[in-house]
Amino acid sequence: MNYASLRAACADVNRRLGSSGLVDMTFGNVSVYDPDAGCFAIKPSGVAYEALMDADIVILDLEGKVVDGELRPSSDTPTHRRLFIEYGSRGVRSVVHTHSRHAVVFAQAGLGIPCLGTTHADSFRGEIPVTRFLADEAIRGEYEWETGNVIVETIGSRNPMDCAAVLVRGHGPFVWGRDADDALEHALTLEIVAEMAWKTRMLCPDVKPIPDALLSKHFDRKHGPKAYYGQG
Ligand SMILES: [Zn+2]
Repeated sequence: MNYASLRAACADVNRRLGSSGLVDMTFGNVSVYDPDAGCFAIKPSGVAYEALMDADIVILDLEGKVVDGELRPSSDTPTHRRLFIEYGSRGVRSVVHTHSRHAVVFAQAGLGIPCLGTTHADSFRGEIPVTRFLADEAIRGEYEWETGNVIVETIGSRNPMDCAAVLVRGHGPFVWGRDADDALEHALTLEIVAEMAWKTRMLCPDVKPIPDALLSKHFDRKHGPKAYYGQG
């Protein structure tokens, strides 16, 4: 099988992540899933974004076996794989992980990001949740796979496309989307709304989330069955 287009899409979005302002050092990675091929592509471990070539991208199946590529995949690969297994059938085609600073501030504080305005509601239906800490045996065991498990536990019965981001406690965000562009846009928006929520709370510690009607209006006009935002 020829993985050229999957590899090119993954290299392109990882290079864009590298220049997005979301990433310090090499703290971030993007994967792209192709359900027809039953495979996903991911950034190799420890390679600088600007030096990333299409050929460096690693292709794995959903069992975690490398099916194409020479380099070692990102150490976070089992987390991405867990999310594609759980949500691939529900439209998730790309996962982004960053340590973007304001989102990490909430993850380290153990706080979800409340929906305080329409900037947030345009992309996320309600609070962006934070996970519990992993148990010690999970941390010592299959740590990255267990990180995926705690994300799935935190999403629970929610539609993953309504809540396309989770903060892993003491770590940082995992974000996804219907394609690589959508996932990267969610990662950028998450960082913006995290900074806005933090500053809003500084100014007004008692601020409450926006009313449900306003939240639904903004989310549904972009994402609902009768969406009318943009050019269609
Ligand atoms: Zn990380």
